[in-house]
Amino acid sequence: MKDKVVLFETEDKCSGCGVCMNACPKGAISLKEDERGFVFPQIDSDICIGCGACKKVCGYNNIPELNSVKKSYAVSNKNTDSIRKSASGGAFYILAKKIIEQGGYVYGASMEKEDDALTAKHIEISSVNQLNKLQGSKYVQSDVGYIYKEVKKRAINGDSVLFSGTPCQVAGLKNYLGKEYSNVILVEIICHGVPNSRLFKDFIRYNQRKNNCVIGNFFFRDKTHGQGYTTKTVFTKNNKQQVKIGKGELTAYIRFFSKSLILRDSCYSCPFAQGSRVADFTIGDYWGFAKEHNDQNMNEKNGISCVLCNNEKAIDFLDECKNDFNIIESEYSKIAKHNKQLNGPTEKSSDRDMVLETYVKSGYSSLEKLYWRKYPKDKVKYIISAIIPADFKRNVRRIFR
Ligand SMILES: Cc1cc2nc3c(=O)[nH]c(=O)nc-3n(C[C@H](O)[C@H](O)[C@H](O)COP(=O)(O)OP(=O)(O)OC[C@H]3O[C@@H](n4cnc5c(N)ncnc54)[C@H](O)[C@@H]3O)c2cc1C
Repeated sequence: MKDKVVLFETEDKCSGCGVCMNACPKGAISLKEDERGFVFPQIDSDICIGCGACKKVCGYNNIPELNSVKKSYAVSNKNTDSIRKSASGGAFYILAKKIIEQGGYVYGASMEKEDDALTAKHIEISSVNQLNKLQGSKYVQSDVGYIYKEVKKRAINGDSVLFSGTPCQVAGLKNYLGKEYSNVILVEIICHGVPNSRLFKDFIRYNQRKNNCVIGNFFFRDKTHGQGYTTKTVFTKNNKQQVKIGKGELTAYIRFFSKSLILRDSCYSCPFAQGSRVADFTIGDYWGFAKEHNDQNMNEKNGISCVLCNNEKAIDFLDECKNDFNIIESEYSKIAKHNKQLNGPTEKSSDRDMVLETYVKSGYSSLEKLYWRKYPKDKVKYIISAIIPADFKRNVRRIFR
């Protein structure tokens, strides 16, 4: 009799990265949403042969070898048009562009239309003018589908490949590849956790209903007013395409995301939120740059990325990209001082389960009401901040610096 495979004991021990589904030789695994919308693998016991391939690749069951950070940098893309599309300093774009120039393939999260809403999905890109799809942070769990299989095929074929994603996705891929490929570059974002796709879709639907429009694209971090959760919504109303720039924190989705109230269970005990890293490169926001460095070429308003090189491969590859960056060497301790997720996983607030229970019971609109009721000070603070022009705020900050 075959052994019954148990992939995870408790929900916080599964990141939903989907690598198990890719590794199953019989196609017995699919990802299914729970009542809150978080995806978990389900094994069809009629098809499963009990080989354990799924368990072997799981990044939580088998944490891959982690590397200590070898070199740390602050970077910003020299191209001002391109950096505006990136969440921070555009580190990802420059690394990805180099791979494509070598005739390679880049994988990352894109905002895609699905059902009557939007969702984040991993896709493959092989031309520079398509890279903008992967630029920018999508603050929702990305569906990787069977992309890990594609990456492995290309890796074996000798193609240059760059895979970018959350640390748990990179961990899964690393196990699935099973060995080091010199032609594969792994890039992880510093991550404080992900909400699920169903909740994000409901947020988009709520806004479509409220504004009687169809939303075609959504950006979490538009730079029109500098850095922060400034959202850009591209929508069609009365047959006319329009764009709206908004203050993200005025919405329950983004405020609850930034307060870590709607993240996946596993994010609160993430084994990858620490100083030793799973990917070749770690990229994130260089918060606190001006406190640590004085460099006129770096503009905090445009965004500055921190780049951690976690092995020699990353150091050599970054060297090939240096001409496209404003770049200065920094220190890991300086970066980690301002970036909580390099020091440990996000703390789980006592409100988090209550927020998700409210969503399950009464839907997304109840979260907007809950925001007013439970956090009125936050709401008022962001309303006032949305009214005051950004330039005025910047000037006041400059005076008091
Ligand atoms: C859910 C989430 C939480 C984050 N939390 C932090 C944090 O706490 N601290 C911090 O310093 N940085 C955090 N980041 C990273 C930060 O927002 C930027 O993505 C990072 O600084 C890289 O910016 P960039 O300008 O180099 O590239 P960008 O052009 O912004 O690059 C986008 C890159 O992010 C990847 N990406 C975007 N959305 C997703 C997604 N949903 N899942 C997987 N990969 C995705 C793309 O594949 C691409 O590689 C987070 C990002 C996400 C998506």
